[in-house]
Amino acid sequence: MKLLENKVAIVTGASRGIGEAIAVKFAEQGANVAFTYVSSDEKARILEEKLRALGVQAKAYKSNAGVYEETEVLVTEVLKEFGKIDICVNNAGISKDNLLLRMSPDQWDDVMNINLKSVYNMTKQVIRPMMKAKSGSIINMSSVIGIMGNAGQSSYAASKAGIIGFSKSIAQELGSRNIRCNAVAPGFIETDMTSYLKEGEQASGYIQQIPLARFGTPEDIANVCLFLASDMSSYVTGQTISACGGLCM
Ligand code: NAP
Repeated sequence: MKLLENKVAIVTGASRGIGEAIAVKFAEQGANVAFTYVSSDEKARILEEKLRALGVQAKAYKSNAGVYEETEVLVTEVLKEFGKIDICVNNAGISKDNLLLRMSPDQWDDVMNINLKSVYNMTKQVIRPMMKAKSGSIINMSSVIGIMGNAGQSSYAASKAGIIGFSKSIAQELGSRNIRCNAVAPGFIETDMTSYLKEGEQASGYIQQIPLARFGTPEDIANVCLFLASDMSSYVTGQTISACGGLCM
């Protein structure tokens, strides 16, 4: 028996990186998957085909998670196409790193809108059908940087810390409706977002800080999301699970 048989999942920001790994992992476990992206048309099309080849229903939606109206249209369309939403993974995110002295208001706003407001946008849309169904799992992608902070990443850290507080609040608001809401806090994961970390001498410096002595893979994070999405975690809500090789304890 697959862990997500007959479930419908929506994953934001899944054309690449961690989101893509989550979409594939969920489809392998029997879930029908709707996913979003903003610019990678070709990658989204290829992923759509890859998921369908796994025998599930799959559809890519070009939708900016940071824009409320776009998420409203998205969730309406997904409900029309898939009939329900059991799992929502709010994964879409960006970083625009800069020391605060140099950080422009636009840089700050972009990070807040795409990383944090997106989580409000999507969660607000998906809880209606979940409340009707008296069941749901919402998984919000935070970061160890939201727990530890990091020089040059104040906007990113603030957005990711905000996600943790938001997730705990939603867990409290909706627990009695059997809707669970958890956050995942990845450490350094090998994706386009962190490709710069692997360059030169820096790389070994980062790895020395990680007890498991390696960067994480997108699949390491997808496995944690699978646990949180499935009934294996039926008594887990309001938690932040760090998947960081022990970087943050
Ligand atoms: P990534 O490789 O840069 O991929 C980002 C994905 O998000 C892409 O599919 C991108 O779509 C999509 N996206 C960007 N802006 C969007 C928007 N406004 N609306 C919808 N989708 C959007 O990033 P990643 O490393 O996989 O990170 C995924 C999540 O994990 C992020 O929230 C990130 O903060 C978090 N995280 C990552 C790490 C890490 O080490 N990589 C660590 C901690 C937390 P396009 O391809 O169309 O641009």
